[in-house]
Amino acid sequence: MIKIGVLGLQGAVREHIRSIEANGVEGIIVKRIEQLEELDGLIIPGGESTTMRRLIDKYDFFEPLKQFAEAGKPIFGTCAGLILLATRIQGQDSNHLALMDMTVERNAFGRQRESFEVELDITGVADGYEAVFIRAPYIVDVGEDTEVLATYQSKIVAAQQGNFLACAFHPELTDDHRLTGHFVNMVEESKKSLASS
Ligand code: GLN
Repeated sequence: MIKIGVLGLQGAVREHIRSIEANGVEGIIVKRIEQLEELDGLIIPGGESTTMRRLIDKYDFFEPLKQFAEAGKPIFGTCAGLILLATRIQGQDSNHLALMDMTVERNAFGRQRESFEVELDITGVADGYEAVFIRAPYIVDVGEDTEVLATYQSKIVAAQQGNFLACAFHPELTDDHRLTGHFVNMVEESKKSLASS
């Protein structure tokens, strides 16, 4: 059986575990770098990207996370996690893990709409998907290897590049577990191909 971790330094961690388990897979809260070894995939949750980055550095997660990605294991970044995956952050010279070829804009939906819920069609994943946005970023542009999976008000809010999946909303806060299910499928596929290589 596959195991999927949720980076447990900050943010909405337990809800992701519930969503992983709802897909019939084991979910593990990751607080130490040694735990990455036993995982087949990892979710980087929502929260606050600058705080999460500070904790990633403090607990020496930066290189192990890069190696996890280089080993061909899938990573799913949600909300703040999406910001951590992006190669470019609008208005900033620095980035974080820089694993997905895309530009993101933080807090992009404005203060007047701190949080809201909409129905999205996510290509190849789900129609009428319930998406909860909280101080959400959006994806300004993607590189040619990055596929756009969903838009809201013409803004890109979900994308995939090979083993990396990112969404601007919180897939763990409702009982709609289909996007997490898509990630579980990605992890199952990668485990199969890593085992045969
Ligand atoms: N606004 C947060 C950031 O910039 C992300 C919000 C969230 O993860 N819900 O990191």
